[in-house]
Amino acid sequence: MDNKKEGSSTNNQENSIDVLHSTRTVIKRALDRLGYPQEVYELMKEPLRMMTVRIPVRMDDGSIEIFTGYRAQHNDAVGPTKGGVRFHPEVSETEVKALSIWMSLKAGIVDLPYGGGKGGIVCDPREMSFPELERLSRGYVRAISQIVGPTKDIPAPDVFTNSQIMAWMMDEYSRMKEFDSPGFITGKPIVLGGSHGRESATAKGVTICIKEAAKKKGINIEGARIVIQGFGNAGSFLAKFMHDAGAKVVGISDVYGGLHDPDGLDIDYLLDRRDSFGTVTKLFKNTISNQELLELDCDILVPAAIENQITIENAHKIKANIIVEAANGPTTIEATEELSNRGVLLVPDVLASAGGVTVSYFEWVQNNQGFYWTEEEVGERLEKVMVTSFENVYRVATSRRVDMRLAAYMVGVRKMAEASRFRGWI
Ligand code: NAD
Repeated sequence: MDNKKEGSSTNNQENSIDVLHSTRTVIKRALDRLGYPQEVYELMKEPLRMMTVRIPVRMDDGSIEIFTGYRAQHNDAVGPTKGGVRFHPEVSETEVKALSIWMSLKAGIVDLPYGGGKGGIVCDPREMSFPELERLSRGYVRAISQIVGPTKDIPAPDVFTNSQIMAWMMDEYSRMKEFDSPGFITGKPIVLGGSHGRESATAKGVTICIKEAAKKKGINIEGARIVIQGFGNAGSFLAKFMHDAGAKVVGISDVYGGLHDPDGLDIDYLLDRRDSFGTVTKLFKNTISNQELLELDCDILVPAAIENQITIENAHKIKANIIVEAANGPTTIEATEELSNRGVLLVPDVLASAGGVTVSYFEWVQNNQGFYWTEEEVGERLEKVMVTSFENVYRVATSRRVDMRLAAYMVGVRKMAEASRFRGWI
């Protein structure tokens, strides 16, 4: 039996094509601004390597299902590639490609010694048992083992994958190679060499970007009104961090709708009631739509759910002064231009959500040196990286008079282009 459901993924396919197209458009603009010739763009518009694998898995009822998986390695001029593995029914080759390019940009922006990679398996982990998930995870590692490794390409968690899945993958790789290889994968449980602070790293990075952006806009975080779309891993930790910093979280949402209270929501209560898929609004009667949520009166808006939420249709209705993209691709290119022209400070995804890959890098460094850091040490190092990266991007945006997204791409592609040039590739 083949688990790939072709028809159900049409929307996602279109979304992925849009995302890949807009990423390439901004990369082209960034390279043009930096004065690089066309061949640099030709090199960067596609991953250097793309592997498709078929993974047979024995299901609990005795049948065999064949799953399709991918691993994309965008560019390894700077160093090994790095990026998560997504388990989702709508994973596609195009999506994995686009996400691997984003990982290269993120690594360049926060100045990590990596290129971008990404992986995915077409499956629905919500409908699979633990033993089936374990067999699938181990099968994927066996299938891609020739092209991954601690000095080649280092996977990590992404949508619907977690530290348990990383542990199975690390164990499978270590068994195959016949030595313990914690540096093969990041996002592991702490007892297997995971890093303190990894789980909340993306939200911490977003929090640091919000604080830096607020300074630029003269907004005091204490009492600032913030709206967060999405209450999953990124959105819920972020709500907690902002609440603890004295901000008023006036709106949150999940896939079913949003909650709004101009006096500030009770974040601790909502965190207590949310389920493991990041849903909580079903418990309430007075909800608003996700579109209404985005248009709420607030100082700071954080899309932390899915792509294509702020488009040319609703950009003019957004009231926030600052938008910080925790989600990947929540704002279209046209909407970015409209918002920037209005003076809204938009901190793009490739910068704002780079806290996760930064702490993944810290985990890999700790694995390689066999010496582990405290949560405080991780937090301090993350803060330094994010503040420096924000400043670098902001400086390029103001000095070159471009929006923050284009500035971030200019910072992100430069190191990759230079490394490719020094290697004699271009
Ligand atoms: P998650 O699955 O834990 O949570 C997603 C949240 O978004 C849930 O609350 C869900 O109900 C909500 N949601 C889903 N569909 C929605 C819709 N159509 N409208 C409104 N809300 C919807 O995911 P996450 O890990 O928090 O990731 C959220 C975003 O941040 C994604 O774009 C992800 O790629 C990006 N991101 C996450 C990390 C990380 O470390 N978690 C790192 C980088 C980027």
